[in-house]
Amino acid sequence: MTDFTMAVDADGVATITWDVAAKSMNVMSTAAFGLLSGLVDQALADAAVKGIIITSGKKDFAGGMDLNVIAEMRAGGAQAIFDGVMTMHKVLRKIELAGMDPKTKKGGKPIVAALPGTALGIGLELPLSCHRIIAADNPKAKIGLPEIMVGIFPGAGGTTRLVRKLGAMMAAPFLLEGKLSDPKAAKAAGLIDEVVAPEALLARAKEWVLGAKDTDLIKPWDDKGYKMPGGAPYHPAGFMTFVGANAMVLGKTMGVYPAAKALLSAVYEGALVPFDVALRIEARWFTSVLLNPSSSAMIRSLFINKEALEKGANRPSVADQSVKKLGVIGAGMMGAGIAYVAALAGIEVVLIDAAQDSADRGKAHSADLLDKGIQRRKVTVEKKAEVLGRILATTDYAALKGCDLVVEAVFEDPKVKAEVTAKVEAAVGAECIYASNTSTLPISALAKASVRPEQFIGIHFFSPVDKMNLVEIIRGKQTGDRAVAKALDFVRAIRKTPIVVNDARFFYANRCIIPYINEGIRMVAEGVEPALIENAAKLVGMPLGPLQLVDETSIDLGVKIAKATKAAMGDAYPDGAVDAVLFWMADQGRMGKKANAGFYAYDAAGKREGLWDGLAAEYPHVADPDLATVQHRLLMAQVLEAVRALQEGVLTDIREGDVGAILGWGFAPWSGGPFSWLDIIGAARAVEICEKLVAEFGPRFEAPALLREMATKGDSFYGRFGAQKAA
Ligand code: NAD
Repeated sequence: MTDFTMAVDADGVATITWDVAAKSMNVMSTAAFGLLSGLVDQALADAAVKGIIITSGKKDFAGGMDLNVIAEMRAGGAQAIFDGVMTMHKVLRKIELAGMDPKTKKGGKPIVAALPGTALGIGLELPLSCHRIIAADNPKAKIGLPEIMVGIFPGAGGTTRLVRKLGAMMAAPFLLEGKLSDPKAAKAAGLIDEVVAPEALLARAKEWVLGAKDTDLIKPWDDKGYKMPGGAPYHPAGFMTFVGANAMVLGKTMGVYPAAKALLSAVYEGALVPFDVALRIEARWFTSVLLNPSSSAMIRSLFINKEALEKGANRPSVADQSVKKLGVIGAGMMGAGIAYVAALAGIEVVLIDAAQDSADRGKAHSADLLDKGIQRRKVTVEKKAEVLGRILATTDYAALKGCDLVVEAVFEDPKVKAEVTAKVEAAVGAECIYASNTSTLPISALAKASVRPEQFIGIHFFSPVDKMNLVEIIRGKQTGDRAVAKALDFVRAIRKTPIVVNDARFFYANRCIIPYINEGIRMVAEGVEPALIENAAKLVGMPLGPLQLVDETSIDLGVKIAKATKAAMGDAYPDGAVDAVLFWMADQGRMGKKANAGFYAYDAAGKREGLWDGLAAEYPHVADPDLATVQHRLLMAQVLEAVRALQEGVLTDIREGDVGAILGWGFAPWSGGPFSWLDIIGAARAVEICEKLVAEFGPRFEAPALLREMATKGDSFYGRFGAQKAA
């Protein structure tokens, strides 16, 4: 293995270069850590070596820990994790103390980290153990500790070191929110020490090594009289920070993310003891988090599987289908957003609406978003001009000539959509793929208007398009592989996450989210306190309660969907109780957030104030279910729909089911998604919950046959469907 190599120059400066073969980004493995340790030993023992530079042979420093290492560590159980982490602590501590005399703190060798670019996770924890961190002025570089985003926390000393370096308050955004910074911002925040021109990086690192004095090597926490910046927990100022942090974290996470709680405990307990004891405490809490099923489920869905889907795990093997010229029909809320994300990704866009001023308004949406970017200094004036230059706003279908993909986002009306399909197909070449952004109309039915149904597909974006990262690709009955590949290549170009599902009413995401909203509204009708419904949802990790969600998406949309579903289902329609509330709300003119009036009350500026008290007058409080029952109803309403979608072959890959649920509608991210949640509780327990809910609330909670069968066999979803595609 040559992940790390060392060369010593004529001035006695050893350069350890991190360069993992056959990978574009360095990631740390257990073996590489051992190799690094050996090289550091060698350099410290070599009398000819005056100091060490640790740098990278790639344009970036490192992306973090190889997540497979974490999986291996987990497999060994608690003791193996703890021992593995303590070994890492020892190596990093060796770098930090650098051979100095423990009493006089003299005679150590200076070690500097020279970061050419991005440095994440262990890629920052290693530098934090060095005596100085110098980064190249590379505005694209990201520096930080993003572990919390995948359900763990920095466990190789990053937590303990950063808190001691910056103080708990200043370290909080980096540890608790995984905030990433470019080098200049990282320097301003005190995360790193110096930013230099990229070409001067190694020369400056060497200069620092050769000029370093003994005192430059002593970390504040190893110096006499060290006091934590901002105060330790029993200092009056520190006390405020810690008390506040607890409340803030609980408020944000609702206590469902084990990593955030464990991180805070490691910080609090660590702050009360000497540094080396704090590292042991960090290792204990890290072990506890790694053993929590939430962390493995989050890593699997939010990191490994999300990335696999983005890289085209389910892409048919068809030649490259990169989009060169995109047509967007309908420049309303969705069409305007789609035009923006495509133009931003460098794709030429023709944005068509029925009237020129509507098309212009659609293009102005891009200008507004780019202006906001300019205000936040993320976009330059030149960039704005360049992106807008790619969008042609027009009413003329002839401009679509040369488009290889057209996305239709006109009114949700099959007749209007059919007319548009015919007009587009008359204007484009025979190779062009045609996609509809419909949210409710079956793709196979819309494809009847097409002369090339094998080139007709659904590409379903979520609102707002620029923010929502999931894109649901819908394969109609006749949709061919090239259309699927085209859609996937488009989604990849605009850097979003795709799932590919088969055609069925409401596809996947809306199919699961509607029962969640309905279950919430049904409880209002039953006289359950609305605050209990909303809080139960949040306490189980849903970002929005069902009533807030329906306010955000609008009551009239709910009414429209209910009417259409009822018309399609006839007597089998099961949601009359929901409609009674929903239609009554609409009659009161409470259309949701956009109307400043919905299940919640809003002030004149549109700020949500609290649940609307008029609701209590119409639906007085009569039922007091326990919290767990409300939570089970809200979760099972979504999860059983996901299982049915799998059972019916709408979903063909549980990875898509989990990733899609978290990115599409915010399904309790701590759980890793509906299938991961079922695996955490086990199919047998899930069936038991269903049986109880059926007895109390009716057959909609009937466990699907697949779930029953799994309960009988003792199967898990990832055990059974994880390795290969489900269908
Ligand atoms: P919208 O009303 O904001 O925009 C529709 C636009 O299409 C309007 O600008 C209208 O002038 C234009 N249009 C109508 N008929 C046309 C025609 N014949 N030729 C050219 N332009 C025409 O609607 P929206 O919210 O952007 O929704 C568009 C589509 O996206 C719908 O199918 C909807 O179901 C779907 N969708 C909406 C959302 C959402 O949250 N709003 C989410 C996903 C999908």
